[in-house]
Amino acid sequence: MLYGSTRGQAPGIDFVEAMLTGLAPDGGLYVPERWPTLSRDTIAGFAGARYADVAKVVIGAMVGDAIASADLDRMIEAAYAPFRHKAVCPLVQAGDNLFLLELFHGPTLAFKDVAMRLLGQLLDHAPKTRAARATIVGATSGDTGSAAIDAFGGLDHVDVFILYPHGRVSEVQRRQMTGSRAPNVHALAIEGTFDDCQAMVKGLFASPGFREEIGLSVVNSINWARIAAQTVYYFTAAVALGAPGRPVSFAVPTGNFGDIFAGWVAKRMGLPIERLMIGTNENDILARTLATGTYQLRGVIPTTSPSMDIQVSSNFERLLFEASDRDSATVVDAMAELSRTGAFRIAPQALDRIRSEFAAETVDAAAVTDEIAAVQRDNDYTLDPHTAIGLRAARTLLRQNPTTPVVALATAHAAKFPDAVERASGVRPKLPPHLADLLDRPERVSVLPNSRAEVETFIRRHGRVAKHRA
Ligand SMILES: *Cc1c(COP(=O)(O)O)cnc(C)c1O
Repeated sequence: MLYGSTRGQAPGIDFVEAMLTGLAPDGGLYVPERWPTLSRDTIAGFAGARYADVAKVVIGAMVGDAIASADLDRMIEAAYAPFRHKAVCPLVQAGDNLFLLELFHGPTLAFKDVAMRLLGQLLDHAPKTRAARATIVGATSGDTGSAAIDAFGGLDHVDVFILYPHGRVSEVQRRQMTGSRAPNVHALAIEGTFDDCQAMVKGLFASPGFREEIGLSVVNSINWARIAAQTVYYFTAAVALGAPGRPVSFAVPTGNFGDIFAGWVAKRMGLPIERLMIGTNENDILARTLATGTYQLRGVIPTTSPSMDIQVSSNFERLLFEASDRDSATVVDAMAELSRTGAFRIAPQALDRIRSEFAAETVDAAAVTDEIAAVQRDNDYTLDPHTAIGLRAARTLLRQNPTTPVVALATAHAAKFPDAVERASGVRPKLPPHLADLLDRPERVSVLPNSRAEVETFIRRHGRVAKHRA
């Protein structure tokens, strides 16, 4: 099983190397050179199986022989043991043919834990057989950072630097990043937006020599291992609702296009998914792209769903690559155009393909409030704002086709965004017991300007890897 870059200029590498590298050296994203598929019988066999056992098959197909299967199985078991629900990602019914897939039972209360717990295991394992040490740098709109700090805090041979937009994350998100006592993790509040943080991480990669000097790796949603891990719950949810005998649709609150792309991967692997519905907030680049065929950047507007306050939806590059018949020249041209002019056009044929599999809906602040209030009143169930966007979009899909079940991904626990939830529902969601003292923990954070040079200096000064190699 080899992985190549969407930009076509990087040598093929295996799953572990793709995970350790994150972003390909040519600036592209890793995708399997050939898509693995699962037979109908294999998928049917997932009915009633434990989550970890499904994960072993699905992720195993993407890992190939890069990791011994006994090791991979053990890491998968360890990754999902700390989830507070036995089903790991349980499905709950929200209406006729309408379901919520609860992805927030991990340690930091958002779906990012599903991938990050496994990445922690994989990263702990890989350096023993490959690199000596790794420095993880990640940009976060809030949830990736908390999940990474929780999953990697205390690991011996990994240093973690998390960049988040100063003042633009919720208090709970910030506290989860700044409240860690692990000496190998560093929360950096950058004076800029999430897109600035993400551009900074890409810049660090491009900075001559820096990447090798510190053994740099990224754990953003561009990391293939994260996509691979997120594919699993599409299988468990769809099979619980009758797949492979019956198609299922998914509605996904979307920012960086990672989570919903994992759904596309599941479909590509053989899962009968009828439609993938993108739910966005006012930062609606994906909805505009589907409507107009032009991917065009605009400024980021802060919303009550901060984890989706993103314009540059990095993983869209993977879909563009696939929809363009895997033609890397098309991707290279589009990305060059994007950095030159802030926009690119999608060719008509590629756009048609994208539209045949995806739909999109923009859910504004008023609709989010409405959805949270309605579900609190009707179902006595508390939604977080991101999940409300997914559920709202799911209802649209269901109106168009009432016979195919729709699963909305519940990406965060309401207690992660208590202010917005309380304003909408009148109910202040409580943190679960393991986080009850979160708001009392001392905070450790460094505020840095939106300057790559300063961030590089900080990482050199505080990383053990850099010191070790110096
Ligand atoms: C990260 C995140 C999203 C968006 O996921 P992408 O993979 O970036 O599309 C949605 N909801 C929550 C709660 C998140 O943390």
